[in-house]
Amino acid sequence: MKLKTSQLADRYRIAHGKKFHLKDVDPADTCHADEDHAKKLLAHAVEDASDLQEKLYAQGKWAVLLIFQAMDAAGKDGTIKHVLSGINPQGCHVTSFKAPSTRELAHDFLWRANQALPERGRIGVFNRSYYEETLVVRVHPTFLKAQNLPAKASGKHIWKQRFHDINAYEEYLENNGVVVRKFFLHVSLEEQKKRLLARLDDPKKNWKFEAGDLRERQLWPAYMKAYEQMIQHTATKSAPWYVVPADNKWFTRLVVASALIETLKSLKIGVPKLTAEQCASLGASRLALSGDAA
Ligand code: ATP
Ligand code: MG
Repeated sequence: MKLKTSQLADRYRIAHGKKFHLKDVDPADTCHADEDHAKKLLAHAVEDASDLQEKLYAQGKWAVLLIFQAMDAAGKDGTIKHVLSGINPQGCHVTSFKAPSTRELAHDFLWRANQALPERGRIGVFNRSYYEETLVVRVHPTFLKAQNLPAKASGKHIWKQRFHDINAYEEYLENNGVVVRKFFLHVSLEEQKKRLLARLDDPKKNWKFEAGDLRERQLWPAYMKAYEQMIQHTATKSAPWYVVPADNKWFTRLVVASALIETLKSLKIGVPKLTAEQCASLGASRLALSGDAA
């Protein structure tokens, strides 16, 4: 089946979370795409993303923030690497968020993310993000304890408060020209098992294996519930989630690239227009350079 990037971006975008159910997205879905065709389309999409990013940079008005969340081995790293492979490294910055340090724990949960936001004209990528606060921290109550919050800030309404604060924060970003797009790479429990086994069996992949991933895997139902609620409460028109089937890496990459180029296109950025004065100055420089002895 012939695919279009706009179709793919639309199909997996959740802009109104209220009625979202995770069971409605099949991790193995490929939209009946042919793998070879999808790979060609990805190569084009990567080129388009590079052209669009140059305009974003030249104009220097918008910043784009891409947030990636997923269970282990869902393919975040590979997706980021492939989708951004054509982009000028100077126009793009990836930040990976790990378990917070003592210094980070001593601040509010958005503090460390705020410092890693992309500048105008750049694409910022968060490999995990402040959404971990509604995922790993929710699934492990001891992590919340470690934050040492006052009782008033850690009562039974804490998750609703977190969703509310995140929505307000993303609205604030939108009001400041930061375009937020969020990706949940939705891998199945079976496919994760295959990928973790490959990390154990293949010496080249051994370094990627972490015993902790098996512990988190045991908590799969709790994580899926947390992901579903996170999307229900934080998918908005201006900061949508893309729930991306992740059992086939080639398809995951194509959907993410499609969402990126559709987002960049929607900003309708042209090459910056020069004023009459700037054009005259270019003319003078051309004349000077033509007359140069070299
Ligand atoms: P990979 O897929 O290569 O394993 P990763 O993103 O899982 O990449 P790791 O270094 O394995 O990277 O894991 C980072 C860990 O940090 C994750 O288990 C994540 O849940 C945890 N983490 C991130 N943010 C927080 C947070 N706010 N509180 C507690 N743990 C967090
Ligand atoms: Mg990990």
